[in-house]
Amino acid sequence: MSFEIPKLPYAYDALEPVISKQTLEFHHDKHHAAYVNNLNNLIVGTEFENADIVDIIMKSKGGIFNNAAQVWNHTFYFDQFGKDKLKQPKGNLLDAMNTSFGSFDEFKEKFSVAAKTLFGSGWVWLIKKTNGSLEIVQTSNAANPLTEGLIPILTCDVWEHAYYLDYQNKRPDYVSSFWDIIDWDIISGRY
Ligand code: MN
Repeated sequence: MSFEIPKLPYAYDALEPVISKQTLEFHHDKHHAAYVNNLNNLIVGTEFENADIVDIIMKSKGGIFNNAAQVWNHTFYFDQFGKDKLKQPKGNLLDAMNTSFGSFDEFKEKFSVAAKTLFGSGWVWLIKKTNGSLEIVQTSNAANPLTEGLIPILTCDVWEHAYYLDYQNKRPDYVSSFWDIIDWDIISGRY
């Protein structure tokens, strides 16, 4: 079995000016595609040849893990955006945010600080624990909260390739703009 890169669920220029067409062309067509390609090459002849992506993430190490997790992380990241959508969470997710963080604004502030301060390459996540409570976690490189038994709800890619063409060294500007393109219908559905 081999993995295929999902198409973006919107046009390449749909997220401008927050994320440019050029960034999406590189990030999706080059970076995400390379992780898919690498994974397909690495699993040939291994126990993971016919495994699904989450199974590979849960059981593999090294290069196979890194590429499998990056495939999953990028699909999850690209799927959460859209413009002119619901601007804040609703229903059970909003209730859980109020309980876990005080308010939606306090959640955004805490998540933003985590994204701005993560050292090096990695991802910041809003995760749900099995008891339904929410937490913000930082992971380095390809690491994914699924391996800790946590359920990802929202993520921000803070590898430089996610923002460098548009914001250069100014990661805080990317993180501040990030909120303008989140589709909270999708995020609320993940909770
Ligand atoms: Mn990326």
